[in-house]
Amino acid sequence: MIDLARRIHEVEARISSACAACGRSPESVELLPVSKRQPSALIREAASLGYRCFGENYVQEGSAKAQELPQLEFVLIGPLQRNKAKPALQHFHEILSLDRPELATRLRQMAEELEVTRKVWIQVDLWDEATKMGGCTQNDLPALMEALGEDPRLPLQGFMAIPPPERRKAFQEVAQLRALWQDTLGRPLRLSLGMSDDLEAAIAVGSDQVRIGTAFFGSRRGQI
Ligand SMILES: *Cc1c(COP(=O)(O)O)cnc(C)c1O
Repeated sequence: MIDLARRIHEVEARISSACAACGRSPESVELLPVSKRQPSALIREAASLGYRCFGENYVQEGSAKAQELPQLEFVLIGPLQRNKAKPALQHFHEILSLDRPELATRLRQMAEELEVTRKVWIQVDLWDEATKMGGCTQNDLPALMEALGEDPRLPLQGFMAIPPPERRKAFQEVAQLRALWQDTLGRPLRLSLGMSDDLEAAIAVGSDQVRIGTAFFGSRRGQI
């Protein structure tokens, strides 16, 4: 408990100084703890320290935790297969990894059938990462936007990305993409950029949410 509290405090302090360095208010950055491959007991501790919403990568693992901890919220940040659209909509409050038109179509059908509303974010990959981590390319983005069709059941929040660490301009590129689509859609969009190792750079380009796993919870357990 003391360890967790200390780590959380350190992450919060890093966010505050990153905000101070670029003239942003610390409240403008949401800290999303990433609890993949972390035990439920640790998530409960984080909840007792004030955190209510957690990022999970795997539908099965996240669904199990959501059922075990119904007082908390889980959001999906990992790749989503079309055939898992239903459990994803049932157990996660938001989906941050929408990355292709077929998935948007499937999610719209299932959301209608289940009569649920879920916030979604589009995961982009502007660097041809060979879709290792998923992500929509810039060319495919208009088709994805059209497939999503401003469906009120799946309100678009903004863009999520996991840029290659060696690509120094990557965060800036996603920020430009956001600006472009804000103009096109005529409304504000959010950015979910930045993880344990690079949250400062993400905050500097205007990220609204940082997704923090190891710096928050400590090292992860083996593959589940
Ligand atoms: C695991 C993961 C994170 C957290 O990574 P850390 O480096 O442990 O902070 C954030 N976002 C996504 C999409 C992840 O898969």
